[in-house]
Amino acid sequence: MLPTLDFLSSRFAQFNQTIFDGRLPMPTFRIGYARRSQGSLSYKSVRHFGVKHRVGDFTLTLSRKFDCPEEEWEDTLIHEMIHLHIAANGIVDTSTHGKVFRQMMHDINARWGRHITISKRLSVEEAERETLSAPRFFCVVKLADGRTALTVAAKTCINSLWRDIPRVYKTISIDWYWSADAYFSRFPVARTPRLYVVKAEDLAPRLAKAVRLTKDGKRID
Ligand SMILES: [Zn+2]
Repeated sequence: MLPTLDFLSSRFAQFNQTIFDGRLPMPTFRIGYARRSQGSLSYKSVRHFGVKHRVGDFTLTLSRKFDCPEEEWEDTLIHEMIHLHIAANGIVDTSTHGKVFRQMMHDINARWGRHITISKRLSVEEAERETLSAPRFFCVVKLADGRTALTVAAKTCINSLWRDIPRVYKTISIDWYWSADAYFSRFPVARTPRLYVVKAEDLAPRLAKAVRLTKDGKRID
């Protein structure tokens, strides 16, 4: 069968009640035409003071490019609902389909006799996100001499580095971010001002996906 909006919304309501205790937020439902994955969940990161990362505007999509048995569509939907549960509750997993995801998937398969999987449903974007690491907090510094540099900060030292880096270096601008991109895990974690010069063009695509940090007095939460 091909998925329809009716199927999607009625099964969502059913599984939300039976499997997720009725606790999932209601996403927008969509029937799309993706060739790479049967289902997907998208959402927006909402910028917030400090490091807390809020999410919202969930959209759950099934693709009409696939013709599957009903039960497989249900498994696909529940797979996306696990993503929704993790994202909506701000749970930090080890990767897109990390420990938390797999544990929930196994529990649901065992308890409800489902056959939810991971491997078949890796979209390109999801495969990319598989390489995520623990979140890193960092600032990007434009130096007065035109170079771009980076400091990955120990979480407990963000406040002091925020204050001290512009005192120690001649800077044009400093912007703070957090990201789970594995790229940032190769830099040493600094507790005192120390800069690592990087190529601005290497950084640009990573920054596009990073979350900007803002500061409200001393509070970073
Ligand atoms: Zn997935």
